[in-house]
Amino acid sequence: MITITTPRLSLQPTHKNCWSICSKTHNSLLGKVFFHNDWFNIILKPKSLHLGVASEAGYGLIKALNSQTVKAKTNLPHARLYLKNLGFEQVNDHFEVTPEKLNYPDLYQKLNHKLGIDTKTTNSPKYPTATQIVDAGVDCFQRPIKLHPKALKAWQAMQQAAQKKGIQLTPVSAYRSLNYQAELIQKKLDKDQQLADILKVNTPPGHSEHHTGCALDLTTNGEARVLEADFADTDAYAWLQDNAADYGFFESYPENNPHGIIAEPWHWCFDLKHI
Ligand SMILES: [Zn+2]
Repeated sequence: MITITTPRLSLQPTHKNCWSICSKTHNSLLGKVFFHNDWFNIILKPKSLHLGVASEAGYGLIKALNSQTVKAKTNLPHARLYLKNLGFEQVNDHFEVTPEKLNYPDLYQKLNHKLGIDTKTTNSPKYPTATQIVDAGVDCFQRPIKLHPKALKAWQAMQQAAQKKGIQLTPVSAYRSLNYQAELIQKKLDKDQQLADILKVNTPPGHSEHHTGCALDLTTNGEARVLEADFADTDAYAWLQDNAADYGFFESYPENNPHGIIAEPWHWCFDLKHI
């Protein structure tokens, strides 16, 4: 069986002229590739749109085709931008790319470079962005939030179980894109804060566990300040310590964690390997 793998994806033929695009980590179907003669079409499920999945799949396929020039045709503005990002150039009524010019749009390098962050000296772990996210209600500030579909299911079950014991769990933050993480840092730079000081509290784009769509920052009814150490003194934190693992959630940064990150008792992450 032929398989094309990219950092986050695995592509395999399923029927004649049809391939599946799956998440490599837990094998969920994200979309399909349809081949028509010399052409291929990538169709993604809505939950996988705008996460770089199409670019990564397209790049992997074109690379594996191992042919000379690849041609594409489209009138859709977003598709033209997508092709441009992959290195395609317009030639008369279509677009073309050669193996030398084909490139994977590396948002990670681009955003960090723009902020003046040297990724070679970044110690915190790097996290892959989610390959699928869905709407997950609102946070404590009534802003809409998103989560990985599996993390959402587990989160809803955990929140309800806590509620039954009189414990209120409210999200403060969930999925964050690389762009959002870069904006957080840029806003502080615009207020003349020093980059070194900002990076003590904000991870560089690509290094936040919130990119995975599985991490949640939590608070509870007025018992503790939002995103402050006193969350560790709440009944909600005690309940999470006793019960979160049953729902697949783990405290990522407890006291003395191996990442050297200050304790974040409010930050919990769903393990996709949890059944
Ligand atoms: Zn967090």
